[in-house]
Amino acid sequence: MVSSNHCTLLRVLVAAAFFISSQSLVVCYSTTTSSWSSRDPPFPRKLLTTNTCPSSPSLPAPSLPWSHAPFCPPPSNPNIGGEVPDDCVFIVTTFRASQGLSLVTTPDLASSIVSFLDDGFVSVRLRDHPSVSQRQQDTSTEKHDGRNGMGYTVKPLPGRGKGVLATRRFAKHETVMVDFPALLVRFDFLNSERFDPSAQRGMLERAVRRLPRETRDAIIGTDVVRDVIQTNAFGVEIEGVNHMALFLHGSRVNHGCRPNVFWRYSHRDMAMEMVALREIKPGDEIVHSYAPLGYTMQERQQTLEAWGFRCRCEMCSAPAGQIALSDRRRERMFEIHSTLGMAAESASLSKQRIDALVREAMGIIEVEELDPQLVAYHEVFARAYMSVGDVSSARSHVMAAEEKWVYYEGEEHSNIEQIKRLWEELDGLQEEVDEDDDDED
Ligand SMILES: [Zn+2]
Repeated sequence: MVSSNHCTLLRVLVAAAFFISSQSLVVCYSTTTSSWSSRDPPFPRKLLTTNTCPSSPSLPAPSLPWSHAPFCPPPSNPNIGGEVPDDCVFIVTTFRASQGLSLVTTPDLASSIVSFLDDGFVSVRLRDHPSVSQRQQDTSTEKHDGRNGMGYTVKPLPGRGKGVLATRRFAKHETVMVDFPALLVRFDFLNSERFDPSAQRGMLERAVRRLPRETRDAIIGTDVVRDVIQTNAFGVEIEGVNHMALFLHGSRVNHGCRPNVFWRYSHRDMAMEMVALREIKPGDEIVHSYAPLGYTMQERQQTLEAWGFRCRCEMCSAPAGQIALSDRRRERMFEIHSTLGMAAESASLSKQRIDALVREAMGIIEVEELDPQLVAYHEVFARAYMSVGDVSSARSHVMAAEEKWVYYEGEEHSNIEQIKRLWEELDGLQEEVDEDDDDED
């Protein structure tokens, strides 16, 4: 997922295919994922201290479902961070057909994902995707020179470290890759000084060392595990808490300012999905954007500095005039967003003016291929229309906003509450308009 400087990791691909029932974990909660709501865990928490299974002769009950007893060293600086639950290392070697998963997180958060660790709960759609079902046969991608059932191959690219190339055509909206995290590390564990750098490194190394051999070999080989996490990981949430997730294939997808895929993560499936934003042809490199979409050239390069590279993608190496034109469109798009946002507060624009600005923004989004931006734009369009009492236009944009959120972030998207509020406000407005109509009658 990164520049050539950071692509020394994950040298060997993991042999992982799905064996649903045979690999199921010993989890003794009677609930299933269908009753799950992320706000209301259906099982007792604090798994470290709660025995939910009948006593088992082979596994010490307090360690279930972990393959090793959780490793909880005392913090290096107990005075930093106050009375916080400390992070431990949790390992499940059976996760996703024995790819394995290591977590460095708090006991509460680790407990909260227990029911999702079982392979049997993964949606069939994701489980049967060729990138999962064919992965075992395609472990040694070097031998396959691109012809494999997965639909892509991971290989070294000149000047770009390793990257992911499509080996067949993918249609727009098609899922290109499904992948499961091998390592999940709570973001604040890395940021806080409660564990000093050598203690952090010790815990991360332990987390990797205890994974199944093939997964471990795919991760080890880099100098500093911590660098791997910071440069190759995806941000995902567990119970609303940020974690860095490392994927064996997904983390190999390089950056492109004009991406051909976006990724979404399902908490319930504990799976990341990369979906085609446009048609992808055999031989195309699969790229997603590490920087927020819609940024200008300068903003993109500044953001990418954090990953330690300067982007030279097709967009960034275009003629200066073309870059300047694209930058102007993007700046204009943000300007419209802010103008409509203010109008929504102050009802300062007419419906005709709002119509014109919405048309202009939609035009830019289309030309610049920034469809994922629409999650935010439809919402501001809806609010602007609400400010002039145009319920029907507002409604169509709220519907579109919700649809885009679900598409780009999945059913458990991060804006559920906001969209719910928007619907409520819209219903309120509809009632007001209906009452006014009644009064007129
Ligand atoms: Zn670029």
